[in-house]
Amino acid sequence: MLKIMLKACSVTVAVVAVSQVVSFATRYAAGQPFTLFVFLMNSILPVLTAFPAGLYVFWQTARLKRALAELRELHVKLEAKANRDQMTGFLNREAFFEQFKMARRWTDTGALALIDADHFKKINDTYGHLVGDEALKLIAGAIDRTTRELDIVGRIGGEEFCVFLPAASRDDAVQIAERIRIEVERLVFQPDDGKHYPLTISIGVALTRGHHLTSQLMRQADRCLYDAKGRGRNTVVVEDALAEMAERKTSETG
Ligand code: GH3
Ligand code: MG
Ligand code: MG
Repeated sequence: MLKIMLKACSVTVAVVAVSQVVSFATRYAAGQPFTLFVFLMNSILPVLTAFPAGLYVFWQTARLKRALAELRELHVKLEAKANRDQMTGFLNREAFFEQFKMARRWTDTGALALIDADHFKKINDTYGHLVGDEALKLIAGAIDRTTRELDIVGRIGGEEFCVFLPAASRDDAVQIAERIRIEVERLVFQPDDGKHYPLTISIGVALTRGHHLTSQLMRQADRCLYDAKGRGRNTVVVEDALAEMAERKTSETG
């Protein structure tokens, strides 16, 4: 408020000065005397008009600036909310794939890990959906702790997560995926009866080779995930594990 008053005062002083100069010049040109009365009128009238007008204008401008800043803040919050999964805080499906595509523009290599909670339906069936939600949050926490700052993490479905590891080599990808798997395996989940209930995940990893389309990579990661489930779950399978199997099958049948 003090700032607004000061601004209004400086505008008033400027208006008084201009009005005195103009009045003096015109009276001088017309050969009329510049009396004390004229001087007072030239001072009082601007104070009575310019000061409140200045106050009003600066006050409205400040209000407008505040409203704009609030609107900007709200916009940022809304945008973040629209991109995030409420339960885990991870990117939602749409935002994940958007960021994944953007990341692939600056890196040719990397790995796409598709993570699926094992036998999750059983948790819901045994303990109810709310307890299932708690298990999901624990799994999400484990993924969050074991991924790197630069990794893109999303919840792309009910009990499915996706992690893109930009620029990760095969070894990096295997190491990180294993780290996630072990962290989930170590989780302490004690639903209502206080007994430990083991949580596990299966992970399918597709290594990117630049020319792969997102849909191809997803398909590849999905195949690996399917393979991991087939191997008994709580397992990590990377892309060429499947390729090797395919080769083995071809050589066996050929
Ligand atoms: P699999 O090891 O083959 O993946 O078995 P699964 O039981 O995890 O797989 P399935 O696809 O049969 O079931 C997934 C379950 O995940 C069913 C669904 O109710 C549950 N689920 C999906 N989203 C949520 C959620 O947000 N909260 C809870 N509590 N459960 C969820
Ligand atoms: Mg699933
Ligand atoms: Mg599952």
